[in-house]
Amino acid sequence: MRVFADYHTHTRFSHGKGTVMDNVRAAARKGLEAVAITDHGPANLFGVGVESLATFGEIAEEIERSREAFPGVRVLMGVEANIVDTDGGLDVPAEVQKRLDIVLAGHHLIVRGRTLADWWKLSGRNFAARWSRHLAERARVDNTKSLVEAIRRNRVDVVTHPGLHVSIDTAELARECARVGTALEINAKHAHLDVAFLKVAARQGVSFCINSDAHGPDEVGEFGRALEVAMRAGIEPERIINVRA
Ligand SMILES: [Zn+2]
Ligand SMILES: [Zn+2]
Repeated sequence: MRVFADYHTHTRFSHGKGTVMDNVRAAARKGLEAVAITDHGPANLFGVGVESLATFGEIAEEIERSREAFPGVRVLMGVEANIVDTDGGLDVPAEVQKRLDIVLAGHHLIVRGRTLADWWKLSGRNFAARWSRHLAERARVDNTKSLVEAIRRNRVDVVTHPGLHVSIDTAELARECARVGTALEINAKHAHLDVAFLKVAARQGVSFCINSDAHGPDEVGEFGRALEVAMRAGIEPERIINVRA
């Protein structure tokens, strides 16, 4: 089995270390057929996200140059969007999504919510949930709802690191992903997904995507034990969108 594409990499445009060209060069060296540039959406706080939506124009220009320099690698222009309200709104609007080759979306804790109430539900309460079972239960319901609504209302190709730092109903999310054709990510950097999670998700008929979530060129195409965990969970290679036998 071989992972032929890395659909989740960051650059200096958000809080990665390298340039677009660095990531594409690394992908070419590792023999990847495709790589996606998926910097964080603008709602991530403290310089983690892109400065504004206009940044995607600059990223597109660099991607164009990297395509010319490395014609053997398919370079996808993408984003790792943030969920900013429990109705599934993203920090990258539909008109920007349409211009991208791939849209990833994930739940991040240090983000600007649409409103203060949204911030509480998506971020604050997830921190407070550590000390209260009641809050933990309500957080789990809203975490799941916001992800489910996000894939219903937007064009999301992959949900990144599902369940990282936040509690979710795996089966419910996977069921909806299977219905709308969104893949669940097996994230190599965070390596938080275990065999049990993957088995629960797989039972719903969902597809998966193995990504590095590289924050530096040296991490591009590094999938660690993600493939091995997937195989141990009994996921068939055909169910992983970027794996080939
Ligand atoms: Zn992320
Ligand atoms: Zn990421």
